[in-house]
Amino acid sequence: MPIVNRVADLHGEIKKWRQDFHAHPELRYDVHRTAGAVAEKLKSFGCDEVIPGIGRTGVVGVIRGRKTGKKVIGMRADMDALPIEEETGLPYQSTIPGKMHACGHDGHTAMLLGAAKYLAETRNFVGTAVVIFQPAEEGGAGAFAMIKDGLISRFGIEEVYGMHNYPGVPLGDFAIRPGSMMAAADHIEIELEGKGAHAARPHLGIDTILVGAQIINQLQTIVSRNVDPLESGVVSICMFQAGQTDNVIPQYAKLRGTARSLKPEVRELLRRRIGEVVEGTARLYGASAKIKYSNGYPVLINHQRETAFAADIAREIVGKDRVDTDLTPVMGAEDFAFMLEERPGAFIFVGNGDSAGLHNPSYDFNDEAIPVGTSYWVRLAETALAG
Ligand SMILES: [Zn+2]
Ligand SMILES: [Zn+2]
Repeated sequence: MPIVNRVADLHGEIKKWRQDFHAHPELRYDVHRTAGAVAEKLKSFGCDEVIPGIGRTGVVGVIRGRKTGKKVIGMRADMDALPIEEETGLPYQSTIPGKMHACGHDGHTAMLLGAAKYLAETRNFVGTAVVIFQPAEEGGAGAFAMIKDGLISRFGIEEVYGMHNYPGVPLGDFAIRPGSMMAAADHIEIELEGKGAHAARPHLGIDTILVGAQIINQLQTIVSRNVDPLESGVVSICMFQAGQTDNVIPQYAKLRGTARSLKPEVRELLRRRIGEVVEGTARLYGASAKIKYSNGYPVLINHQRETAFAADIAREIVGKDRVDTDLTPVMGAEDFAFMLEERPGAFIFVGNGDSAGLHNPSYDFNDEAIPVGTSYWVRLAETALAG
Protein backbone atom coordinates (compact mmCIF):
# COMPACT_ATOMS: atom_id res chain seq x y z
CA MET A 1 0.00 0.00 0.00
CA PRO A 2 1.56 3.34 -0.97
CA ILE A 3 0.46 6.74 0.41
CA VAL A 4 -2.69 6.40 2.53
CA ASN A 5 -5.60 7.98 0.58
CA ARG A 6 -7.01 9.97 3.48
CA VAL A 7 -3.52 11.27 4.24
CA ALA A 8 -3.16 12.46 0.65
CA ASP A 9 -6.44 14.38 1.17
CA LEU A 10 -5.00 16.04 4.26
CA HIS A 11 -1.78 17.14 2.51
CA GLY A 12 -2.90 20.75 1.88
CA GLU A 13 -4.06 21.22 5.45
CA ILE A 14 -0.90 19.73 6.99
CA LYS A 15 1.23 21.89 4.70
CA LYS A 16 -0.58 25.01 5.99
CA TRP A 17 0.17 24.03 9.60
CA ARG A 18 3.80 23.42 8.67
CA GLN A 19 4.24 26.79 7.01
CA ASP A 20 2.56 28.54 9.93
CA PHE A 21 4.98 26.86 12.35
CA HIS A 22 7.79 27.83 10.00
CA ALA A 23 6.81 31.50 10.12
CA HIS A 24 6.74 31.46 13.95
CA PRO A 25 9.86 29.65 15.16
CA GLU A 26 10.51 29.33 18.90
CA LEU A 27 13.63 28.19 20.76
CA ARG A 28 14.31 25.45 23.29
CA TYR A 29 11.63 25.26 26.02
CA ASP A 30 10.13 28.57 24.97
CA VAL A 31 7.76 26.93 22.45
CA HIS A 32 4.51 28.30 23.92
CA ARG A 33 2.82 29.31 20.68
CA THR A 34 3.70 26.04 18.93
CA ALA A 35 2.75 23.85 21.91
CA GLY A 36 -0.50 25.82 22.27
CA ALA A 37 -1.39 25.26 18.61
CA VAL A 38 -0.50 21.56 18.89
CA ALA A 39 -2.70 21.08 21.99
CA GLU A 40 -5.60 22.97 20.42
CA LYS A 41 -5.44 20.90 17.25
CA LEU A 42 -5.19 17.60 19.13
CA LYS A 43 -8.35 18.59 21.06
CA SER A 44 -10.16 19.55 17.88
CA PHE A 45 -9.31 16.13 16.37
CA GLY A 46 -11.07 14.48 19.32
CA CYS A 47 -8.05 12.90 21.01
CA ASP A 48 -9.14 11.11 24.19
CA GLU A 49 -6.67 13.04 26.29
CA VAL A 50 -4.50 16.07 25.58
CA ILE A 51 -1.92 16.86 28.24
CA PRO A 52 0.25 19.98 27.97
CA GLY A 53 3.12 20.92 30.26
CA ILE A 54 5.01 17.63 30.29
CA GLY A 55 8.73 18.37 30.40
CA ARG A 56 7.81 22.04 30.85
CA THR A 57 6.32 22.73 27.40
CA GLY A 58 5.88 19.26 25.91
CA VAL A 59 2.43 18.08 24.79
CA VAL A 60 1.04 14.53 24.75
CA GLY A 61 -2.06 13.31 22.93
CA VAL A 62 -3.69 9.97 23.71
CA ILE A 63 -5.77 8.21 21.05
CA ARG A 64 -7.52 4.95 21.93
CA GLY A 65 -8.36 2.41 19.26
CA ARG A 66 -11.80 1.16 18.26
CA LYS A 67 -11.25 -1.85 20.47
CA THR A 68 -9.65 -1.73 23.85
CA GLY A 69 -6.30 -3.43 24.09
CA LYS A 70 -3.31 -3.33 26.34
CA LYS A 71 -0.61 -2.29 23.94
CA VAL A 72 0.60 1.33 23.93
CA ILE A 73 3.02 2.84 21.43
CA GLY A 74 4.59 6.29 21.42
CA MET A 75 5.37 8.41 18.36
CA ARG A 76 7.47 11.49 18.84
CA ALA A 77 8.04 14.82 17.06
CA ASP A 78 10.12 17.83 18.12
CA MET A 79 8.85 21.43 18.05
CA ASP A 80 11.82 23.77 18.57
CA ALA A 81 13.74 25.94 16.10
CA LEU A 82 17.27 27.38 16.02
CA PRO A 83 18.94 30.75 16.70
CA ILE A 84 19.71 31.36 13.01
CA GLU A 85 18.78 34.31 10.78
CA GLU A 86 16.74 32.85 7.92
CA GLU A 87 17.89 33.52 4.34
CA THR A 88 15.35 31.55 2.29
CA GLY A 89 13.24 34.49 1.12
CA LEU A 90 10.20 32.19 1.17
CA PRO A 91 6.69 33.68 1.46
CA TYR A 92 6.32 31.93 4.82
CA GLN A 93 9.84 32.78 6.00
CA SER A 94 10.45 33.37 9.72
CA THR A 95 8.72 36.46 11.10
CA ILE A 96 11.01 36.47 14.13
CA PRO A 97 14.49 37.94 13.70
CA GLY A 98 17.31 35.56 14.62
CA LYS A 99 15.10 32.49 14.87
CA MET A 100 14.48 29.89 12.22
CA HIS A 101 13.14 26.38 11.66
CA ALA A 102 16.41 25.22 10.12
CA CYS A 103 16.17 21.59 11.26
CA GLY A 104 12.70 20.78 9.91
CA HIS A 105 11.03 20.33 13.30
CA ASP A 106 8.13 22.35 11.82
CA GLY A 107 7.69 19.49 9.34
CA HIS A 108 8.01 16.80 12.04
CA THR A 109 5.36 18.47 14.19
CA ALA A 110 2.97 18.96 11.27
CA MET A 111 3.33 15.36 10.01
CA LEU A 112 2.66 13.86 13.45
CA LEU A 113 -0.34 16.19 13.87
CA GLY A 114 -1.63 14.92 10.52
CA ALA A 115 -1.25 11.35 11.74
CA ALA A 116 -3.06 12.21 14.99
CA LYS A 117 -5.95 13.67 13.01
CA TYR A 118 -6.22 10.53 10.87
CA LEU A 119 -5.89 8.15 13.83
CA ALA A 120 -8.49 10.00 15.92
CA GLU A 121 -10.86 9.96 12.92
CA THR A 122 -10.46 6.30 11.96
CA ARG A 123 -9.31 4.49 15.14
CA ASN A 124 -8.64 1.41 13.12
CA PHE A 125 -6.47 -0.23 15.79
CA VAL A 126 -6.53 -2.03 19.11
CA GLY A 127 -4.81 -0.39 22.07
CA THR A 128 -3.46 3.13 22.43
CA ALA A 129 -1.45 5.47 20.23
CA VAL A 130 0.37 8.23 22.12
CA VAL A 131 1.62 11.22 20.13
CA ILE A 132 4.51 13.06 21.80
CA PHE A 133 5.50 16.64 20.95
CA GLN A 134 8.69 17.63 22.71
CA PRO A 135 10.45 20.96 23.24
CA ALA A 136 14.19 21.67 23.28
CA GLU A 137 15.64 18.98 21.04
CA GLU A 138 18.36 21.44 19.97
CA GLY A 139 20.70 21.20 22.93
CA GLY A 140 18.12 21.40 25.73
CA ALA A 141 17.41 17.66 26.19
CA GLY A 142 13.63 18.13 26.03
CA ALA A 143 13.16 14.38 25.56
CA PHE A 144 14.95 13.78 28.84
CA ALA A 145 12.80 16.45 30.55
CA MET A 146 9.62 14.71 29.36
CA ILE A 147 10.91 11.32 30.57
CA LYS A 148 11.77 12.81 33.98
CA ASP A 149 8.24 14.17 34.07
CA GLY A 150 6.87 10.62 33.80
CA LEU A 151 6.21 10.39 30.04
CA ILE A 152 6.94 6.66 29.79
CA SER A 153 5.35 5.39 33.01
CA ARG A 154 2.35 7.74 33.09
CA PHE A 155 1.12 6.68 29.65
CA GLY A 156 2.45 3.13 29.82
CA ILE A 157 4.43 3.49 26.60
CA GLU A 158 5.91 0.13 25.53
CA GLU A 159 7.58 1.04 22.25
CA VAL A 160 8.65 4.41 20.94
CA TYR A 161 9.38 5.69 17.43
CA GLY A 162 10.91 8.88 16.03
CA MET A 163 11.52 10.40 12.59
CA HIS A 164 13.80 13.13 11.22
CA ASN A 165 14.01 14.57 7.72
CA TYR A 166 17.37 14.21 6.02
CA PRO A 167 18.77 16.43 3.24
CA GLY A 168 20.76 14.45 0.70
CA VAL A 169 18.53 11.37 0.97
CA PRO A 170 16.20 11.38 -2.08
CA LEU A 171 12.86 13.07 -1.35
CA GLY A 172 10.51 10.69 0.42
CA ASP A 173 12.97 7.79 0.61
CA PHE A 174 13.73 6.29 4.03
CA ALA A 175 17.05 5.43 5.67
CA ILE A 176 17.64 3.56 8.90
CA ARG A 177 19.98 1.05 10.52
CA PRO A 178 19.83 -1.21 13.57
CA GLY A 179 22.22 -0.47 16.43
CA SER A 180 24.21 2.77 16.77
CA MET A 181 22.89 5.29 14.24
CA MET A 182 23.79 8.69 15.73
CA ALA A 183 26.62 9.81 17.98
CA ALA A 184 26.99 10.65 21.64
CA ALA A 185 27.84 14.36 21.83
CA ASP A 186 29.78 15.48 24.89
CA HIS A 187 30.88 18.99 25.81
CA ILE A 188 34.45 20.15 26.43
CA GLU A 189 35.25 23.38 28.29
CA ILE A 190 38.84 24.35 29.04
CA GLU A 191 40.03 27.33 31.07
CA LEU A 192 43.72 28.15 30.85
CA GLU A 193 45.69 30.36 33.16
CA GLY A 194 49.20 31.48 32.26
CA LYS A 195 50.96 34.70 33.13
CA GLY A 196 50.08 37.96 31.44
CA ALA A 197 53.02 39.98 30.14
CA HIS A 198 54.10 42.69 27.75
CA ALA A 199 54.17 41.36 24.20
CA ALA A 200 57.77 42.54 23.86
CA ARG A 201 58.87 40.53 26.90
CA PRO A 202 57.37 37.05 26.33
CA HIS A 203 60.09 35.40 28.43
CA LEU A 204 58.51 37.02 31.51
CA GLY A 205 55.07 35.57 30.83
CA ILE A 206 53.29 32.30 30.10
CA ASP A 207 51.44 32.69 26.82
CA THR A 208 47.96 31.17 26.99
CA ILE A 209 47.46 31.67 23.25
CA LEU A 210 50.47 29.49 22.48
CA VAL A 211 49.39 26.91 25.07
CA GLY A 212 45.84 26.87 23.70
CA ALA A 213 47.10 26.43 20.14
CA GLN A 214 49.29 23.50 21.23
CA ILE A 215 46.36 21.92 23.05
CA ILE A 216 44.17 22.18 19.94
CA ASN A 217 46.87 20.47 17.86
CA GLN A 218 47.55 17.76 20.46
CA LEU A 219 43.83 17.01 20.80
CA GLN A 220 43.79 16.12 17.11
CA THR A 221 46.14 13.21 17.82
CA ILE A 222 43.51 11.46 19.93
CA VAL A 223 41.31 10.38 17.03
CA SER A 224 44.28 9.74 14.72
CA ARG A 225 46.50 7.92 17.24
CA ASN A 226 44.40 6.61 20.15
CA VAL A 227 41.06 5.61 18.64
CA ASP A 228 41.02 2.31 16.73
CA PRO A 229 40.98 3.26 13.02
CA LEU A 230 37.95 1.03 12.51
CA GLU A 231 35.95 2.93 15.15
CA SER A 232 34.45 6.43 14.93
CA GLY A 233 35.31 9.51 16.94
CA VAL A 234 35.35 13.28 16.54
CA VAL A 235 37.11 15.91 18.65
CA SER A 236 36.41 19.47 17.52
CA ILE A 237 37.44 22.65 19.29
CA CYS A 238 34.96 25.26 18.10
CA MET A 239 35.68 28.22 20.35
CA PHE A 240 38.99 29.82 21.38
CA GLN A 241 38.84 33.11 23.26
CA ALA A 242 41.91 34.96 24.48
CA GLY A 243 43.39 38.42 24.43
CA GLN A 244 42.06 41.89 23.70
CA THR A 245 44.81 43.71 21.85
CA ASP A 246 48.10 43.36 19.96
CA ASN A 247 50.67 44.17 22.63
CA VAL A 248 49.57 42.07 25.61
CA ILE A 249 50.16 38.37 26.16
CA PRO A 250 46.91 37.32 27.80
CA GLN A 251 46.83 35.67 31.20
CA TYR A 252 43.67 33.69 30.46
CA ALA A 253 42.18 31.71 27.57
CA LYS A 254 39.00 29.72 27.13
CA LEU A 255 38.32 26.88 24.71
CA ARG A 256 35.14 24.96 24.00
CA GLY A 257 34.31 22.04 21.78
CA THR A 258 32.60 18.71 21.30
CA ALA A 259 33.63 15.04 21.50
CA ARG A 260 31.57 12.50 19.60
CA SER A 261 31.52 8.73 19.49
CA LEU A 262 29.33 5.78 18.58
CA LYS A 263 30.40 3.35 21.32
CA PRO A 264 30.67 3.64 25.11
CA GLU A 265 34.31 2.45 25.09
CA VAL A 266 35.31 5.12 22.56
CA ARG A 267 33.37 7.71 24.53
CA GLU A 268 35.33 6.78 27.67
CA LEU A 269 38.64 6.83 25.77
CA LEU A 270 37.94 10.34 24.44
CA ARG A 271 37.04 11.60 27.89
CA ARG A 272 40.23 10.16 29.46
CA ARG A 273 42.63 11.24 26.71
CA ILE A 274 41.21 14.76 26.42
CA GLY A 275 41.85 15.22 30.15
CA GLU A 276 45.39 13.84 29.91
CA VAL A 277 46.31 15.85 26.80
CA VAL A 278 44.96 19.14 28.14
CA GLU A 279 46.59 18.80 31.57
CA GLY A 280 49.87 17.46 30.19
CA THR A 281 50.21 20.12 27.52
CA ALA A 282 49.39 22.97 29.91
CA ARG A 283 51.93 21.63 32.42
CA LEU A 284 54.59 21.41 29.71
CA TYR A 285 54.40 25.19 29.28
CA GLY A 286 53.91 26.07 32.94
CA ALA A 287 50.24 27.01 32.54
CA SER A 288 47.35 25.57 34.53
CA ALA A 289 44.21 24.09 32.97
CA LYS A 290 40.76 23.49 34.36
CA ILE A 291 38.77 21.09 32.23
CA LYS A 292 35.07 20.43 32.39
CA TYR A 293 33.92 17.45 30.35
CA SER A 294 30.18 16.91 30.51
CA ASN A 295 28.01 14.25 28.95
CA GLY A 296 25.55 15.45 26.31
CA TYR A 297 23.12 13.28 24.37
CA PRO A 298 23.93 9.56 24.45
CA VAL A 299 24.50 7.34 21.41
CA LEU A 300 21.22 6.78 19.55
CA ILE A 301 20.83 3.00 19.43
CA ASN A 302 18.03 1.54 17.34
CA HIS A 303 16.60 -1.74 18.66
CA GLN A 304 16.80 -4.69 16.29
CA ARG A 305 13.19 -5.87 16.20
CA GLU A 306 11.62 -2.42 16.12
CA THR A 307 14.06 -1.27 13.41
CA ALA A 308 13.07 -4.22 11.21
CA PHE A 309 9.43 -3.35 11.90
CA ALA A 310 9.93 0.35 11.05
CA ALA A 311 11.73 -0.61 7.83
CA ASP A 312 8.81 -2.90 6.88
CA ILE A 313 6.37 -0.01 7.32
CA ALA A 314 8.61 2.30 5.27
CA ARG A 315 8.78 -0.30 2.47
CA GLU A 316 5.01 -0.60 2.53
CA ILE A 317 4.71 3.17 1.90
CA VAL A 318 7.40 3.78 -0.74
CA GLY A 319 8.52 0.36 -1.98
CA LYS A 320 11.55 -1.70 -1.09
CA ASP A 321 13.96 0.08 -3.44
CA ARG A 322 13.46 3.35 -1.61
CA VAL A 323 14.33 2.14 1.89
CA ASP A 324 17.99 1.96 2.87
CA THR A 325 18.35 -0.30 5.91
CA ASP A 326 22.13 -0.07 6.01
CA LEU A 327 22.60 3.66 6.51
CA THR A 328 26.13 4.69 7.49
CA PRO A 329 25.88 6.11 11.03
CA VAL A 330 26.10 9.87 11.36
CA MET A 331 28.08 11.85 13.96
CA GLY A 332 25.22 14.26 14.60
CA ALA A 333 23.35 13.76 17.87
CA GLU A 334 19.66 13.55 18.71
CA ASP A 335 17.96 13.50 22.10
CA PHE A 336 15.45 10.83 21.00
CA ALA A 337 18.39 8.62 22.12
CA PHE A 338 17.11 9.14 25.70
CA MET A 339 13.72 7.63 24.78
CA LEU A 340 15.44 4.63 23.18
CA GLU A 341 17.28 4.09 26.48
CA GLU A 342 13.90 3.75 28.19
CA ARG A 343 11.96 1.63 25.72
CA PRO A 344 12.61 -0.39 22.56
CA GLY A 345 12.00 1.53 19.37
CA ALA A 346 13.53 3.00 16.23
CA PHE A 347 14.49 6.34 14.73
CA ILE A 348 14.19 6.73 10.96
CA PHE A 349 15.27 9.36 8.41
CA VAL A 350 12.92 10.50 5.66
CA GLY A 351 14.64 12.07 2.65
CA ASN A 352 14.37 15.85 2.20
CA GLY A 353 15.89 15.61 -1.28
CA ASP A 354 18.57 17.89 -2.65
CA SER A 355 17.99 20.76 -0.19
CA ALA A 356 20.35 22.96 1.81
CA GLY A 357 21.74 21.13 4.83
CA LEU A 358 20.24 21.06 8.31
CA HIS A 359 21.08 24.19 10.37
CA ASN A 360 21.86 26.16 7.20
CA PRO A 361 20.14 29.59 6.75
CA SER A 362 18.83 28.47 3.32
CA TYR A 363 17.36 25.17 4.53
CA ASP A 364 13.61 24.44 4.23
CA PHE A 365 11.62 21.32 5.05
CA ASN A 366 10.17 19.90 1.82
CA ASP A 367 6.36 19.79 2.04
CA GLU A 368 6.29 17.05 -0.57
CA ALA A 369 7.64 14.67 2.11
CA ILE A 370 4.45 15.17 4.17
CA PRO A 371 2.28 12.43 2.59
CA VAL A 372 5.13 9.93 2.97
CA GLY A 373 5.99 10.84 6.56
CA THR A 374 2.37 11.03 7.69
CA SER A 375 1.51 7.73 5.98
CA TYR A 376 4.49 6.14 7.75
CA TRP A 377 3.11 7.24 11.12
CA VAL A 378 -0.44 6.06 10.53
CA ARG A 379 0.55 2.68 9.10
CA LEU A 380 3.09 2.23 11.88
CA ALA A 381 0.38 2.80 14.52
CA GLU A 382 -2.21 0.63 12.75
CA THR A 383 0.24 -2.23 12.25
CA ALA A 384 1.90 -2.13 15.67
CA LEU A 385 -1.59 -2.04 17.21
CA ALA A 386 -3.24 -4.52 14.84
CA GLY A 387 -4.50 -6.57 17.81
ZN1 LIG B 1 18.99 20.19 14.49
ZN1 LIG C 1 16.56 18.20 14.28
